[in-house]
Amino acid sequence: FDQLDGFIWINGQFVKWADAKIHVLTHGLHYASAVFEGERAYGGEIFKLTEHTERLHESARILGFTIPWSVAEIDEACRQLLKKQGFADAYVRPIAWRGSEQMGVSAQNNKINCAIAIWQWPSYFDPAQKLKGIRLDIAEWRRPDPRTAPSRAKAAGLYMICTLSKHAAEAKGYADALMFDWRGYVAEATGANIFFVKDGKIHTPAADCFLNGITRQTVIDLARRRGFEVNERIIEASELEGFEQCFLTGTAAEVTPVSEIGPYRFEVGEITRTLLEDYTAAVQPKRAIAAE
Ligand code: PMP
Repeated sequence: FDQLDGFIWINGQFVKWADAKIHVLTHGLHYASAVFEGERAYGGEIFKLTEHTERLHESARILGFTIPWSVAEIDEACRQLLKKQGFADAYVRPIAWRGSEQMGVSAQNNKINCAIAIWQWPSYFDPAQKLKGIRLDIAEWRRPDPRTAPSRAKAAGLYMICTLSKHAAEAKGYADALMFDWRGYVAEATGANIFFVKDGKIHTPAADCFLNGITRQTVIDLARRRGFEVNERIIEASELEGFEQCFLTGTAAEVTPVSEIGPYRFEVGEITRTLLEDYTAAVQPKRAIAAE
């Protein structure tokens, strides 16, 4: 991934992709003092760009540092880089981290760095499998208590248990894993939020110890506009057996139907398909809709 063509924006400069390097004694690498975003561009426009950039700033604030570029400056850098890369549809990855000026747990004097990379990432899950529903393992790792980790930040350190869970799932032939939270309630997948359907109603875990995804919020909004009841609540593991449909939401995953979670089976039903279509329409640039 470090030898692609094109440019990366790093600390205010566009540098050649292969030259965007940092030192091995970077605090963000040793102590996970890094926060990032995942965004998608559709038809040349980044969907909910400012919301993502604001979340990046908020994640940094939660980790105790301030990104030395404003939301407007990062938004503009993302837009310029998208143009420079020449993609209409692409994935956008801004990241901010503590640098290499000081070594040790304390990082008071470390410079805050920021970079943006943009690449083509058409489908997070296998496209053929996606419409049939993907299969999820049940992870052994649990989303931590908010008193144990800054669970509302999109912070690099929180992904340690996600990679472990995803690898364990992949080793068993699953696409991803459902993670429970520290209390044993249903939480989310390793990089996406989760929804269920039963008797025409939608249920999703209350985002009280994991990322309240921008896609999650968008899909809740789209569902309510369609007149569906959406319940954000505690979901017990024992309820999995009774749900009829299940899908994941996330910037990379978009709306992805789920057909299996461990021993439980779900159909790719009408509500899932409707929300998948509504989301696909919602992410298109507004000007394209206005021109229709
Ligand atoms: N949870 C986790 C752990 C994630 O990595 C993501 C992807 N950023 C999400 C949920 C969904 O967030 P969003 O819809 O904002 O992409």
